[in-house]
Amino acid sequence: MAGTGRESSADENADFGDLSDSEFLDFSELGDIEDLGSQSSSSSGNPRKEVDPEGPWKRKREADALTPMERFHLRCLWVSDLSTQCWCEQQMVYGKELPDFQSTEKAAVLGAGASIHLARELELHDLVNIHTSTKEDIWAVKLLNVLSMVPILQSGGTIREFPVFGEVEGVFLVGVIDELHYTSKGELELAELKTRKRPMMPLEAQKEKDRFQVSLYKCIFDAMVRGQVTPASLVHHMKLSPELLLGPQVQSHAQQGGFTVKSFGELLELTFLSLTLSDLPVIDALKIEYSHQETDTVLGTEMVVFEEKQVRDKLQHHLGYWTGLREPHGVDVKEAWKCQMCDYAAICEWRQNGGMRTLTQEEHAKKMTK
Ligand code: SF4
Repeated sequence: MAGTGRESSADENADFGDLSDSEFLDFSELGDIEDLGSQSSSSSGNPRKEVDPEGPWKRKREADALTPMERFHLRCLWVSDLSTQCWCEQQMVYGKELPDFQSTEKAAVLGAGASIHLARELELHDLVNIHTSTKEDIWAVKLLNVLSMVPILQSGGTIREFPVFGEVEGVFLVGVIDELHYTSKGELELAELKTRKRPMMPLEAQKEKDRFQVSLYKCIFDAMVRGQVTPASLVHHMKLSPELLLGPQVQSHAQQGGFTVKSFGELLELTFLSLTLSDLPVIDALKIEYSHQETDTVLGTEMVVFEEKQVRDKLQHHLGYWTGLREPHGVDVKEAWKCQMCDYAAICEWRQNGGMRTLTQEEHAKKMTK
């Protein structure tokens, strides 16, 4: 499988796969519930950069006229960002606005998880580093990865780190599926690996976020193999130029894979033809495996029931923030325990303004009017 060694001039938005979204932070394990005690923040002792607490609000005021998609210069959304939104939308926003604020402990958990994923990927194929200099090159590498994996899946094999992309509910979503394989019954199963620092299963709130993530993968993958994702949609959302010639290393990598393509558009057509003519099935089963980072022991497995309506309703709610229909929400009072393990607790406007209390009052008022 190919990865990009791109130049800094390439568009950041286009590069969704180099850092796989298949292993993002397992928030709950940074302070499991029984360890929370009464501290208000997990920030003590973390050698983080000094951040002007006024910073985000200054930027927010300046940028109020823009939607968050525009403000963060996003052409697409990552599935991982959407699933993080399930945990706490406000926390996800802080993560975007203040990326340097992340605790070193959290960064270490992420790093260890990414290493385990890389090791698993290398069990199935080698990684080739390809020099890219345009966003079309970067997308071309993703498309070549799709092209190389489709025949393996067609012949009943197992693939890892499969890129998925497509418009869902009007927004272009991208992600990377950890693993796809067939079960003994011949069903196509998606397997998502979540590694955990502590040797225990996650809390229900964490599981809910993970279920949403794999359900979104299924929505996108199924649309891809059903021909519902089109080259025009990819070109439109990501502002790509089909006529652009691919870089020499990308062309050479394509040739090694048996594909003679010169322009991005040629590769695009080839990939979508392969996807739609390959007769790949939709995903039948969704599995999440939780394992302990240090010992690599499996802590437990969850089979996820795909409930399309709930998934799409939740997605629409999340997109309401991204498309500027509403302000970000922090956690509800029932989930205030999340704030005690949050890097942003000391600066969180939602928390300081009694957002949790306000929401509860709103809910209470709603209940009274029913
Ligand atoms: S302090 Fe609480 S409400 Fe604020 S970002 Fe963190 S988890 Fe969300």
